[in-house]
Formats: sequence, C-alpha cells, structure tokens
Amino acid sequence: MSVLTRDEAQTRSRLLDVHHYAIDLDLTGGDETFESRTAIRFTVRGDTDSTDTFVEVKPAELRGVTLDGQPLDPAALDDNRLTLKGLAPGEHELRVEAAMRYSSTGEGMHRFTDPADGETYLYTQLFLDDVQRVFAAFDQPDLKAVFDLAVTAPEGWTVLANGVTEHTGDGRWTAATTPLISTYLVAVAAGPWHSVRTEHRGLPFGIHCRRSLARHLDADAGELLDVTRACFDRYHEKFTEPYPFDSYDQAFVPEFNAGAMENPGLVTFRDEFVFRSAVTDTQRQTRAMVIAHEMAHMWFGDLVTLRWWDDIWLNESFAEYMGYQTTAEATRFTDTWTDFGVTRKAWGYDADQRPSTHPVAPENVGDTASALLNFDGISYAKGASALRQLVSWLGEKDFLAGINIHFERHRFGNASLGDFIDSLAAATDRDVHAWADAWLRTTGVDTLTPRVTGDNGGRLLDVDRAGRRPHRVAVGLYDRDLTDEGRLTLRERLDVDLPQAGPRPIGKLPALVVLNDGDLTYAKVRFDAESFRTLREGLSGLPDPLTRAVVWNALRDAVRDGELPAGTYLDIARAHLPHETDLALVDGVLAFAAGQVADRYVDPGRRPAALSTLTELCRDLIRRTEDGDHPGLRLIAVRHRIATAAHPDTIAAWLADGTVPGGPELDPELRWRILTRLAVLGATDEAAIAAEFARDPSATGQEGAARCRAALPDAEAKSRAWEAMFATDDLSNYLFTATAQGFWQPEQADLVRDYVPRYYAEAVAVAARRGPAIADAAGRWAFPGHAVDETNLRLGRECLADAGPIPALRRKLADQLDDLARALRVREADPR
Ligand SMILES: [Zn+2]
Repeated sequence: MSVLTRDEAQTRSRLLDVHHYAIDLDLTGGDETFESRTAIRFTVRGDTDSTDTFVEVKPAELRGVTLDGQPLDPAALDDNRLTLKGLAPGEHELRVEAAMRYSSTGEGMHRFTDPADGETYLYTQLFLDDVQRVFAAFDQPDLKAVFDLAVTAPEGWTVLANGVTEHTGDGRWTAATTPLISTYLVAVAAGPWHSVRTEHRGLPFGIHCRRSLARHLDADAGELLDVTRACFDRYHEKFTEPYPFDSYDQAFVPEFNAGAMENPGLVTFRDEFVFRSAVTDTQRQTRAMVIAHEMAHMWFGDLVTLRWWDDIWLNESFAEYMGYQTTAEATRFTDTWTDFGVTRKAWGYDADQRPSTHPVAPENVGDTASALLNFDGISYAKGASALRQLVSWLGEKDFLAGINIHFERHRFGNASLGDFIDSLAAATDRDVHAWADAWLRTTGVDTLTPRVTGDNGGRLLDVDRAGRRPHRVAVGLYDRDLTDEGRLTLRERLDVDLPQAGPRPIGKLPALVVLNDGDLTYAKVRFDAESFRTLREGLSGLPDPLTRAVVWNALRDAVRDGELPAGTYLDIARAHLPHETDLALVDGVLAFAAGQVADRYVDPGRRPAALSTLTELCRDLIRRTEDGDHPGLRLIAVRHRIATAAHPDTIAAWLADGTVPGGPELDPELRWRILTRLAVLGATDEAAIAAEFARDPSATGQEGAARCRAALPDAEAKSRAWEAMFATDDLSNYLFTATAQGFWQPEQADLVRDYVPRYYAEAVAVAARRGPAIADAAGRWAFPGHAVDETNLRLGRECLADAGPIPALRRKLADQLDDLARALRVREADPR
C-alpha cells in the first residue's frame, strides 16, 4: 500500500497547478466493477528542478492512459502510482481509462444491496486518499481544481453529486461544474433514492435515503429540514462569506463508516440517522448537531481547506465546536454542551492520557496513513474544547471577526495553523500566538484541585494546577439548601484566571466547590474532602445539568486513575441516577458503569453484584417513569435494563408479550436488543433468530441476526463467527462489526479463551488484506477487551513489538492495550 508523504505532496504542489477534471463514470456494468474515465488539465511550472511527478489510481484494470494525446504504457503503473516523466513547462492534459472495483468496506465506491427489497445503492467516500479508488487524481488537498462529472446509471436511478445534477436521457446524468475544491471532497451517490426536496434562500435543498426507509425519513423530514434551515441561517449571521456552493443535499447512506462526511453540496450521513425505532431526544439532538457540524465544514474545510493533513484539527475542531454551539443557538436543542461534556469530552480526555496522544495541531504528520489515525478524540473533542476556551478568553466578537478575516484571505484556497493564528491576531490585541503554543502544540490534560484554607473568620480559595496551560474558569461555590433537604444552591460563581495571582477570599466554608463549573475549559478537576462528602450525598441536588456533568466526569476520571474505588462509583450512581433528569447524563453514566466498571474494572467475582446494582437502578428509573411523562428517560432505562440482565426471565417475558409492562411497546430495535442479550445468556436459539429476521428482514435486521448468532454460547457458533470475520473476507464493514460485537462476552470467558491468542495474528492478517476500515473494526470491536489479564496484555504487546499491524490497526491495538493495562491497575487499586 503506497501512501503519500508530506514531502512528496509539497514537491508536487510546487510543480503543478491543477485546473480541471472531467470525470465520466459508467455504473451499468455489473456488480464487481465500474468504468472510470478521467481527463485532467494541469500546468507544469517552469521554475522547478525536476519535472517528474505522478498521478494516483487504484484500478482493477488500467485500460489506457494518454498524455497530451500520446499513449503511455499502462503496465508502468507501480502499485497506485503512474509516473509522468520529464514534463515540459506549460499546459498538459492527462487521460486515464480504467475499470474500478466496488467496495464493501465503506471506502471508495461502496456498493450495497438492501435485503429489504433487493435494491442496490452506490456512494463514494473519497476521504482521505480514497479518490484513487474511483478516478485518477493528483490526490492531495492543496491541489484544488474544478470538477465536471458525468455518470451513466441504470434506468430508474437518481444520481446525486456536489453540483446540481440533471438527467439528460438514457441513464446519462451530468453535474453542474464545481468551484475550486479538493479531490477528497468529490462525491457521487447513485441509486433509486427516495428524496424530499425543497428550496431555501433560493438554493435547492434535498434529503435522500434508501426506499425501504422512505416512511421513516418522511416522518422526520420536517425536523431535519427545520434544523438544516435554522443552522444555515445562523451561519449566515456569523459568517460574512455566503454559502459557497450551488445546492445542499443530505444523503443518508447505508454502511457508512463515520458519522457523516462534508462533501460540498452533498453531505453523506450514516443512515442510522433515519430512525426506524423509538429514540431519545439526545439522539435527535446528536443528529441535529451532526447536521450543524457538517454544514460548518462548508466553510471550515471546503471553502478554506487544510494545506496538509497535520491541520485536520482546523477542519474537525471547528466543525465540532460550531456544531454544538450553533445547534444550541439555532434549534430547540439548547443544552448541547451537557452532552458534549458527558460523551465527547470523555473521549478527548481518554485519548489525551494514552501513549498515542498528540498535540491538537501536530507539527509533523509525515504521510496520509499517519494522518488517518488522528481522527480521534484529540482532533474533535479536545480541539473543540480548546476553541471553546479560546472564545471564552478572546470574547466571541473578536473570535468571529478573526474567522471572517480567515475566510476572506483564503477562500477557495488552503491554509495552515500559522495562517489561522495570523487571522485571529488581526482581530484582537491578545497574544494568540502564545495561546496557540500552550493549547495546540502540547499534549496531556492539566489537573485542577481546589484548596480551601483559613478558618470560620474567612475562608480562602486556591486552585492548584498540575500542568502549564492558562485557563479562564468559573468556580461554583454551593451551599446546602436549608429549606429543601438534598438540594444544593449556587452561592456564587467566581471567574478565575489560572495561574492565580493569590488566594481568593470566599467568606464562609461552602459545602461544595466545583472547579470548571459550566465546563468552559479542558482539564481534569478534583474535589477537596468536604466537597466530596457533600456530593456523595447531594450530587443529584445540583441545579444545573452542566455542573452535574462536570462532577460525573470528575468521578469517572478518578475511577480511571485508581483514586476512587469502582464500587464507590457504582454506589454514587445507584444513589443519584434514579433522580437524574438529563438524558445525556443518565445514558452516559450508565454506559460507563456497565461497559467499563461492571465489565472490566471490577473483578469477575464481583461482576454479578455490580450488574444487579445496575439492574435495580434501571428498575427504579422505569418505575419513576410509569406516568408516561418521560419517554426518553424510560427508553434509556429499558435499554440498559436489557443490557445488564443477568437472568433471562424478565426480558424474555417482555419479548413474548411484545411490550414492556406500561410501555414502550417493543419496536425492532428493542426486540433485537433483547434477543442479543438472550443469546448471550443462552436463552434463545437459531430458530428464534431466524424467525426474528423473517419478521424484520432489513439491513439492521441482518446485522441484528449476525450479532445474535455470534453471541450464542456454543462452540460451533463461535467458530462460525470467527471464520466469517477472519477467514472468508466477504463480510461488509457493518456485518463484520455486528459479528464482532456479538463474539466477546464477559459471561463467556471460558468458552472463548482459546480465541484470545489467535486474535492478534489473525487481526494483523485481515487488516493487511482488507485495509483501514476493517482494520479499525477489527481493532475496535473484535478486540478481546474483556480478557482483563496479564496474558492478554503480554500477547498484545508482543504483537505491537512486531512490524506486523498496518498503521490503522497498530493505533487501535496500542489504545486497546493501554485501556487493558488501565483496567488491570484499577482492579489492583480496589482489591476488595
Ligand atoms: Zn467533521
């Protein structure tokens, strides 16, 4: 596998100016390959030493190549590179004709046949260097060009692309010429799509999905388009540069690896966002946030693009920050930062405490394979947190002024960190360069600890900072509410700049001191002894969900650091979660309590007790929501009640009755959740799984059945699942993931023990054969994470010491092994 290095990219962009691509795809030639013809017009500059370069293409068969009308030898293709030798300065035209392979891994041109109705759908995912799987290109972000696209598609299909498309007859489609965009942003989606179209501010807007999901899309079309319009308008209030493309299509596509992709004018989303079953408002909020995130990319990423992949944070941190902020400002989902605090920030903190951490803006990302690894909690969550802190430090007005200078200077071009900081500096007197050095060029999390001194005559507050970053934080001082037992009231919220000049008088002793109240900075926080006593009794009595999120995150950190026993965390959850009202918090805390604490942090002997604590907690929540006023909370409790069931009785009865007593009725998603858990517990069989798939013969049904089959506690089922993942290579990315999710279960440690040593060699092999998307799934989902023991750790480290794993698997394994070592440390710290 040949990757592009930064040096090669720089050399090529000094040599070439690429002007125009004419791409012609024929999608009517069967289910293995499609025809791809590309004509690239470019100029070779006269002022460079060497005039050799190369174009990238990964064909099934390279049929022909001409340069300025002269044929080149297709056999000269070396891996993915075709060398162009001794180019004369001036204009050239390169033509490449090839047969290209469809993909089943979500990379390149993905092909999917819907089991619900037999219809086929195709879409491209060309990020980060997968353009070459679809057409020949000088594939790097700073060689922007204008694209003209034509497609031949089967009768009855619709073709979507970056520009507005038109059917010219006989299955021929053409897309309007794009403005200057990067190669990785080109997009096509073809199939018998179901579409809802409208217009906003004179631009065509559309949403699209598979036909079998049509009624679910229609049911939510109002909400989806409302969010889209509201965010679009809000961005036009923030940004002086108008939306830069000719249309805004959002296609919900099958088996998509990421959440979504910001192709200009044609955003692609994973089609789980078209909800088939009941969802919580947090899930609706997440969908709205992703819509806002991708739309922010139309400016950050698409209009102004990173020069090289070391600045992916310029894309992702911005889109992440803008996504949460704009959703909160422009839609009914006003509480997005609580969810960010609970789910996204934890992702960032975890990533930042691993050996694989890196600065938000790393200085040297050598090649495309390394760049792919940085789409992680650092580039998204930590970077967005850093920007939130920047806005708090700079003020929003100056921040937006700097952004707008940036767009004006680099529109339809490329920019780097330096350019961005220069734009911000033009809008403020503050030292943005020093801020960037402290926040963007360093790694790790600062830890803030309060120290309350003095006596009853007057207390003083100091904040100890382990770390070197400047922070502007709010410090919440809380007292017990004398009129309402169990409530805590905010006495005062202090603005504190760290490092602090000196101790701050705070009057009488507060019951609770919360550092980073409001969650405006990125740091771990700790509590003084008095505060910890108070929150053990009164956490759920804190008035603001964002404050509670900061506290729950701090407790989570303390467990992970071995400072708070896992059992104490469960006790606090048991005491306070039944009173929690924020959905994101309930879901986030239960997910951590079940997936990490019960499954990995307590030793196996104590797991049944941990599960029964969680089961009781969920039962309390289900009881509390019997009045029907909190369907989202009830749904979360039901889902976790299913996942933590140690005995089949209750959930088997729900499945047999088709409903949870008092609701909700079981929809396909809940039915598959129950059946999966029954499979783990050995309380169902192949006949029941087949019957359920007959009842729900959809793509998610297919995944549900694969997950259930892999989860069955018998040797033959495990062997079949293993073969499917590691031997046959015909599972799509989604079916691979579903199978892996079913395979390892803490209840089945003895049954699967022999697969632990097999895992490493076979994961290395499948990753090498099938590429980064499957490598990611193999590292993320097929990893034996429940085998929390020294043997597993040693085997994993031996595998990493080898040159074997491709980069995408190597990073995943390194992170998994770090989590495993942490789980072992947590167990040691709490040996009861
Ligand atoms: Zn993004």
